[in-house]
Amino acid sequence: MDNPIIYENAKWEILTRAQLGPKIQKIIENIPPDVQSIIDIGCGNGVITNELAKKYQVLGVDRSKSALQFVTSQKLEASCDNIPIPSQSFDMVFSSELLEHLPDEIFQKTIQEFKRISKKYIFITVPNRENPDKLLIRCPQCKYIFNRPNHLRSFKSEDFAILFPEYKKTTEFTFGKPVRYYHPALLKLKRKWIPSNSWIPYFWIDKNNRTTICPRCNNQFIFPYKFHPLGFLIDSINVIISPKRPYWLMVLLEKNM
Ligand SMILES: [Zn+2]
Repeated sequence: MDNPIIYENAKWEILTRAQLGPKIQKIIENIPPDVQSIIDIGCGNGVITNELAKKYQVLGVDRSKSALQFVTSQKLEASCDNIPIPSQSFDMVFSSELLEHLPDEIFQKTIQEFKRISKKYIFITVPNRENPDKLLIRCPQCKYIFNRPNHLRSFKSEDFAILFPEYKKTTEFTFGKPVRYYHPALLKLKRKWIPSNSWIPYFWIDKNNRTTICPRCNNQFIFPYKFHPLGFLIDSINVIISPKRPYWLMVLLEKNM
């Protein structure tokens, strides 16, 4: 479900330069030397944008006013699927942790916008082979079940050749803290047998950020948790059978000449 209010009300100030330092470093290291201008689409609070702007001509684009107030580079309030700027106007389209939040129709239009605006490169970072069902939560008010960080889709390396046939992949790597995958069948068992307030153990969630907003009814609630022995058992089995992987997948694409 797409609900602008959850992004407008997000606690943008908690995402800091200190947290993302190594990631930003890795991104800057991999920007091709012939890039001068970058459009950062879905720039959020500009934690990456503001660093890129120290070296490049940068435009940060986001539809959230509350996020854009932290962006110090040039900025534009717009939805990522309809950006009012000319075609091929930036050397590189950059997007970090945006695509996994987009519902189908907006997602398809956004990919088209990336291709339209980019003169040469597209640089994307997304969660690496994530199973979004791992962080399902049920709203205590309206009972809607949703992924807590509002991730609606998952990406693997092979997806980019299909999404961007006009581009070739020049660089690709995984990066960041290793995070454990969750086996889909085990998650199904969890949802069937265990009450919803025992689905997500507390230690999976940053303790400074347990507030959650329901994308359907906008109810804001403190993330609940109750220990459940069967939940603990299923989580333990998952630890044995599922791998840990670096959290991010970063892909640099170059337009075929
Ligand atoms: Zn709700």
